[in-house]
Parts: sequence; C-alpha cells; structure tokens
Amino acid sequence: MTPSYTGKADIHIHSKHSDGSASIREILEYVQKYTDLNVVAIADHDTLAGSLMARDIAHEYGLEAVPAMEVSSRHGHILALYVEWPIPAGLSAEETIARIHEQGGIAVAAHAVEPFSASLLAIRPHVIAPWKLKQMGVDGLEAFNASITIPPMEWLAHLAARYLEVAVTGGSDAHYLGTIGRGITLFPGHTAADLKTALLQRRTVPAGTRYALRHYAGHVWHRRISHTRLGMWAAQRFAPAYARAAR
Ligand SMILES: [Zn+2]
Ligand SMILES: [Zn+2]
Repeated sequence: MTPSYTGKADIHIHSKHSDGSASIREILEYVQKYTDLNVVAIADHDTLAGSLMARDIAHEYGLEAVPAMEVSSRHGHILALYVEWPIPAGLSAEETIARIHEQGGIAVAAHAVEPFSASLLAIRPHVIAPWKLKQMGVDGLEAFNASITIPPMEWLAHLAARYLEVAVTGGSDAHYLGTIGRGITLFPGHTAADLKTALLQRRTVPAGTRYALRHYAGHVWHRRISHTRLGMWAAQRFAPAYARAAR
C-alpha cells in the first residue's frame, strides 16, 4: 500500500542564533500564521541553543520542533536531527555522523551534492566517495534545498540516495521569515515521531519551489546587509519590501 504523505516539515531553518535574522518566537509565529507545516527543525550553524528553545515552546504555536543543528564537519555540512547535545564543528564527516548516532539522532547531508556549498558529495578538495558515505551510515540526503537546488542536482541527489539506500529530504535553508516553507519534507503521519520513523524507513518525499528573485534579494539583505550600518540606514530610509516578513 502506498503511504499518504500527510505530514509537512521544514527541517532546515536558520535563526538569529546563527546567521538567520529571525528569533525563535518570530519563526514559530510565522510558521503558525502563514504555513501549513506540522513540524519544523531550526538547524542553526553549529549551535543547538535556539533549536532546544524551539522544541520547548513550539506547542504554544500548535507545532512540534525537532531539536537540530547544521554541523560544519570538515567534509561539509551535516544536518543533525533529534539531538540533545551539540556536536562540535571541524570533525570529520565520519566522526560527526557517529556522534549524531550515539545520541539516537539522524544525520542528513545538507545540500548533498551542490557544488557551490559545503556539501559532502560535491566535487571539492574534500569530496567523499559515495561508497564511503554509505559505510559511515548517513541516514539521508537533502535532495531539495530551496536556496540552491536546480533540477539536474536534484536528480543526482535522488540517484545517490538510491545507491546509498537512504532517505531524501527537502528544506528551505531559510535565513529570514519569507523563505520558510519554500522547501519541505513530506511524510506519512503528522508528528515529529512520525517524521523520524519515516526518515528511518526512507518514506519521506522532498517538495517545494526554488527561491524566486525576491527571495534571493531578501536572503542577501538579511544575511549580509541588514545588520551593517549601511543596512540599518537603508532600512530606515527605504524599508525595502523584500525585507518584510510576509511573502
Ligand atoms: Zn549548509
Ligand atoms: Zn543551512
């Protein structure tokens, strides 16, 4: 029987706790008001702080938040999902994945094959051979990342996941409110526990739409300019439409 993919999750969101622009409460409020997501994972770069807070207060917004972080391993970015303790940056991919598993967590290669990001399977000096990644026991590949994935890369990621026999996920890689939910992971069920089961059973489906031009403008604005002097001056003077929260 084919499962029905009733649950929707965005498992790749950044907050103020790393290089995103929104606070945890702003993110949860936005998700509640403007999306139909059931589960979120705030996966900040190399910190669990915001994500643990989200996990504790998400119920106030009718949501579930999976504790997560995006670990900068020496070989590329790895989404550590369902972890309770932070994993240090700079370890090898193998060690990072092992530490995620020690905690009963799930390791997903972020933007798995993208050549312009710190990706485990991209062709860069530190590229990892797919068979090695298989030995390391990675649990999933992010096959759709709304900020960068173009169709050929998505197909390549699906192909690699089939070879590795691992789950495929989708995420927004949102660094500001307006892009949350652009990339999602569909799964049977509705809860964070259902999502974990689906990831382990390889029954997740990536979905979403790549950023539009205005989202890239917002992305650059929020990540690179808004917190500089010039950005603060411009925000006061022009209040750019793309800097506002609503899509
Ligand atoms: Zn990344
Ligand atoms: Zn990211």
